[in-house]
Amino acid sequence: MENERHCGYVAILGRPNVGKSTLLNSILRKKISITSDKPQTTRHQILGIKTQNNVQVVYVDTPGIHKQAKTAINRLMNRAAMTMIYDVDLIVFMIDAKKWTSEDELVLKLLQKATCPIILALNKVDLIKDKTRLLSIIESFSKKMSFAEIVPLSVKKNINVDALEKYINQHLPKQDYFFPEDQITDRDERFLVSEIVREKLMRMTGKEVPYGIAVTVESFEKKDNVLHVNVIIWVERKGQKIIVIGKKGEGLKEIGKQARLDLERHFRCKVFLGLWVKVKAGWTQDEKTLSKLGY
Ligand code: GDP
Ligand code: MG
Repeated sequence: MENERHCGYVAILGRPNVGKSTLLNSILRKKISITSDKPQTTRHQILGIKTQNNVQVVYVDTPGIHKQAKTAINRLMNRAAMTMIYDVDLIVFMIDAKKWTSEDELVLKLLQKATCPIILALNKVDLIKDKTRLLSIIESFSKKMSFAEIVPLSVKKNINVDALEKYINQHLPKQDYFFPEDQITDRDERFLVSEIVREKLMRMTGKEVPYGIAVTVESFEKKDNVLHVNVIIWVERKGQKIIVIGKKGEGLKEIGKQARLDLERHFRCKVFLGLWVKVKAGWTQDEKTLSKLGY
């Protein structure tokens, strides 16, 4: 019955590295958002949709909130996070249960302006050895602001993720679905390609290449059940290009191989992936360039 349906937008907010992307991936069980050991790998606002048991949840993963918006890209990310809190039906505020920082404090301040219910997700409880400490941690957080629920969980160890989802469903308004039932993401397949390549790139290059990287998909063509894609990796400096390409091209080859395997798994067909590295000087400083690249 349509009038029994619940539906709404849910934002997962929190400082970088608390586990937001990991949560989204776990809930959607599909590679939509990317994760890595380094903070800030998610620059896009990613929308994932889960429809189940008369509830449709539209997840928005935010790019993170940064204490000092020094560069243009950080300012854009902050703006995205700000407008988001007025736009959603429910907010999941995710923190690291062990570590409260000034960046968390900043997010908390931002959340005071929200009018929708807020669920506090205390992630990484697997790292808390003495479980009795959890009670006092929960109590201290309940004093910070009025939360709809406080849920201790570990996304990595799959502890209490189901409970969090149950609470999310319960707090969504009664209304009909916004999207068709079988839709998983509103992003097109090109976006998925660029995210997968970017993930491999971040994993492979480690600390040497900072966040001055963008990935664009130049062509995307499916013919006779074979996918042909050409992707450009944009870097800021020639030195970064050398790092990405690696000795005798080994680095780029490995990135291409890993990305291709993921793509073949996702699209369930053979994939030809062309990877190119180009230098675009100072792109993180230039908002016009950013919007051209789709940020
Ligand atoms: P985001 O920046 O908030 O999106 O954080 P990510 O999802 O990228 O996760 C940051 C890091 O925390 C990754 O290395 C995750 O594997 C790790 N992580 C996520 N959830 C947990 C958890 O429940 N326990 C532990 N120990 N690590 C976690
Ligand atoms: Mg993330």
